[in-house]
Parts: sequence; C-alpha cells; structure tokens
Amino acid sequence: PRDDLASTLRSLDGASYGRYKSLSGRWSVAGVQLEVLRVQADPFAPPSRVRLTVSDAGLPADLYGTADRRRALASFLLRGLRRALRGTPVQVDAGGPEVLERSAGTVRDDGVVVVELGVPFPGPKRRILGREAATLLGETLPDAAHASLRWASVDQRAARAFVETVEDAVALRAALGERGLVAFVADGAVLPRRSGVDDRPLEGATPFSGPSERSVTLEAPNAGPVTGMGVPEGVTLIVGGGYHGKSTLLRALEAGVYDHVPGDGREQVVTRPDAVKLRAEDGRAVIHDDVSAFVAHLPSGEPTDDFSTTNASGSTSQAASTVEAVEAGADVLLIDEDTSATNMMIRDARMQQLIATEPLVPFVERVRPLHAEHGVSTVLVMGGSGDYLGVADTVIMMDAYRASDVTARAHEIAASGPSRAVEHTGFPAVAPRVVDPASLDPTARGKRKVSARGRDRLTFGEDDIDLSAVEQIADRSQVAGIGRALALLSDGVLDGTVTLAEGLDLLDAELDRRGLEALLDGRSEDVARPRRHEVAAALNRLRSLRLKGV
Ligand code: ADP
Ligand code: MG
Repeated sequence: PRDDLASTLRSLDGASYGRYKSLSGRWSVAGVQLEVLRVQADPFAPPSRVRLTVSDAGLPADLYGTADRRRALASFLLRGLRRALRGTPVQVDAGGPEVLERSAGTVRDDGVVVVELGVPFPGPKRRILGREAATLLGETLPDAAHASLRWASVDQRAARAFVETVEDAVALRAALGERGLVAFVADGAVLPRRSGVDDRPLEGATPFSGPSERSVTLEAPNAGPVTGMGVPEGVTLIVGGGYHGKSTLLRALEAGVYDHVPGDGREQVVTRPDAVKLRAEDGRAVIHDDVSAFVAHLPSGEPTDDFSTTNASGSTSQAASTVEAVEAGADVLLIDEDTSATNMMIRDARMQQLIATEPLVPFVERVRPLHAEHGVSTVLVMGGSGDYLGVADTVIMMDAYRASDVTARAHEIAASGPSRAVEHTGFPAVAPRVVDPASLDPTARGKRKVSARGRDRLTFGEDDIDLSAVEQIADRSQVAGIGRALALLSDGVLDGTVTLAEGLDLLDAELDRRGLEALLDGRSEDVARPRRHEVAAALNRLRSLRLKGV
C-alpha cells in the first residue's frame, strides 16, 4: 500500500473530478489500512466507497469467539464510528435498533475490524478539492477509526454489555421451541415506540407485565434467569379495548425476530425466527397462488387453486400472503385486525344466514387446522369480534397496557353464546411452486439494475417491487440485501427444478456459509442480511415472476 494519500490529494487540487479515479487501491494512512474501492463518476453520483481495515484493534478474543458475538461487536463498533463521523458527509450504515449482519461493518474471526463507508469526494465544480479531500481521507477517517474501532479507545463496559445483550436475545429465542412457545416478552420490557417514524422507546411508557398464568422463566447466558410472558404454540388471541396496547404488543412480537440494542426496551422480547406478519394489501400482484383454502370460488369463474391477478382485493391479497408465508416456511403468523381484511377474518352467524353463497372461507375456520395439520401457530389481535374466542387456545387481554390471561372466561362465553356454523374443515395442502429462474433475472430484460429505493421499494431490472406492506423489513439496507438475494436465487439456485421453499433453504445455507459475500460477490454496497421470508415476499410481489410449467 502507498502511504502518501494526503499529499497525493493535495497535488490533485484543482484537477478535473475524474482524476479521483487514480486513487483506487490500497493506502496506509496513520496506522489504518484504507482502500478506495470505487470512485464516484461525478460529485452528484452516490458516494465513493472506502474500506478501512484495522488489523491491530486489540479486541478481546472472547468478544469475537462466535458469529453472534462478532455480529454484535461489529454493530457496536459501527455505531461508535457513526457517532465519531457525525457532522461529516461520510455515510456509515450502522442501522437502527435491530442488530443485523451488515456489510458496512464486520469483525473477522481473527479480530480484524473492517468497515465500508460511503465517502463523497469533494469537488462541487467538477474540480478536485484537494486540501479538503486530504483532510477528510487523511485525517478525519483515520482519526475516527482510531477513536471508535480500537479496544483501547471504546467504552469497554458498553461494548461488553452490547455483545452480551445480543447473545442473550439469541439464547432466549433459541429456547422458545423446546418450551413450546412462539414468543417471549420479558417483564419490564418497553414495547411502545415514540412514533411511527421514531423507533426509540416511548418515554414514560408503562413497562410490560405479564399474567401469572403465562409466566415463564428462561435462562439467558449472561443475564441469568429472565421471567416474562410466554406466548404458547397454537392459536393465541390478543383482545382488549381500543387504545389499550394490543397492536403495540403485536408489533413488538413482529420485531422479536431480530435482536435489539441495549436501551431499546425490546432486548428481551423474542419471537421464533420464522414468524411472519401478514396483512391485507389491496392492489398487489398475485402470481399463480393456490388460495383455495380461503377462496372457494370466484364470481368470474377463475380457478382459485391457481390464482393470478395484477390487482388483488384486500381479502385475496391477505389470502395470498398467508399461503405464501406457509410455503416459505413460516411457523407463526402474526395478524392485526387493524390491517386485515374483515371479510377474510370473520363471517358471523347472521351473515352466514343472509349470504349462502359466500366464496370466502374466513380465517377463523382455518386457523385451528393450520396448526393441527401444518404446525403453524397464529397470534391474532382481535378486539372487534368474538368469533375467535372459541378457537383460541390462549386469550390475552390488554387492559391499560397490562396483559392478563382471560382464556377460561373467553371459553365460557364462547360455549354459552350464539355460535356461527362451521362450514369448512381442515387446511388443504398447497402444492409447492417452482419458479422459472429466467423470470427473476434482472439482466434478462434490458437494464441491469438492482437497487433499494428506501425502505419500501426495490428496483429489480425493469420492475419496481412495492414492499411497503412487508412490515418486518428493518431498513433500506435489508431491501438492498433482498434485491441481491433475488439475483442470487435467479443465478443458479432456482434452476427450474427446485421448489421455492428448497431454493430459500439453499439461500439460507449460502448466507450461513459465506456471510454477506454470498450476496455481494465482490461488490461493495450497504446491505443487511434479509430473512428468507422477506426475500420470498419480494419475489411474490415481482410482477414479472413466472412459474415453471404454467
Ligand atoms: P390498540 O391496538 O389496543 O388500539 P395500540 O397498541 O395502538 O392500542 O396503543 C395505543 C396507544 O397507546 C399508542 O399510542 C401506543 O404508543 C400507546 N401505548 C401502547 N403501549 C403503551 C405502554 N406500555 N405505555 C404507554 N403507552 C403505550
Ligand atoms: Mg390496534
């Protein structure tokens, strides 16, 4: 590596912007290895990419001894680097409250710290601002790296607490299965957020306290025994008056598939990794889904076991998302009445009498067979209809943000009151789909482009995938990861014979084996590891998707 970066930049002062390209390659700057990976073509293009490698960070070996510890420690260091670079134009993709595997920062298994940053090279008039660039790359970056990526300079207690918090969450989540639970909410957890656009914990919130009937104690490796509410497998209903905290509890369960930073309030709220939030999403595309479990027939006469539309209704969109989630391997469904299609969820006794030819099979008829026959549990927020009281194994009531168990009383009411007639039994098996990989190839249709447009939209080739209803996506970098995962699926994984579920297994195995490099393949881009469920959700919303053999 060359060691004259600052003087090189100063000598380029005033040169045409394109000469920044000559910086590509490795440099040694004030004890930090700096590699210019990609240089932006002009000052208005996305920032150049710079990798910093700190090989003598001096991290204690026990803090990078496992993959979970490395992910946590990297997240901690990256957050410190972001703080150190606040007020500069440098972009550090440290993420939100979720602790995800991110390409922006890694701690390797030999303790070396590697970060990748977006650095806008200064030159507003298409002329290199040499002195400014020399300060930014030659001083600001290495100073920030020394101040935040070296063990000697970080808050060591906070680093350890961060790693231990993440490790505990992983252990709590791993304990759910053997305890027959789908989720766990520790007593004292803070569930509500400040607002829909502010992920920080609500100040002055009532801490969570669970009912004694549902109280369980799990063992965390660092925190020791943790007591809280266990949400059992089967069908769980969350009831309660409006504004009493039902949706807030469900959203915490949705987020519980991820680990959270210390101070978030949800550090010890964990959900099975394959829990999937479902909702209605009218207008979405559906491509060859077997929705016959929920749609018996359609007025148009279209087949419902091979249903496609460019513009689904609320109910058919939710039916499609439900069977797609099961296909992708979901073992817990999370549903909120606030975002559900009513006619997909309920059909009460009086409406049964009035309408004899209803094509929709309400979820209330499928929710038990879904668990009994397919092992898929459901947690459902439902304050507006009593139809589910009789089919729920567990009924949790939220009252002024406090949870109590009202299962016995709910079952009494269900047994004594007027009841709806059961019209359907069982849950029909859904035939696995085989995707035509050519339909997934972003290069096949002209422009080669995979790029995240914020948290809600993914440009994939010539398609734009709307992800705004895929609620468990954490951030923009995860969307970028989803885009790369789709490209990887098309490029060899889905070969026209493996089913979609098998393809997702292969994808997970690749990610476990090679980390994010499996997605990036030498590229430098901010990506976070996506779950298979969000990859599947994006694929299912890709309007150009085609299946093999149809
Ligand atoms: P529901 O779904 O029962 O109608 P929400 O979950 O939407 O209720 O909560 C209603 C309001 O109460 C929200 O503004 C939420 O932030 C707030 N809230 C929820 N839980 C708590 C809590 N534990 N402490 C304080 N405020 C809370
Ligand atoms: Mg609600």
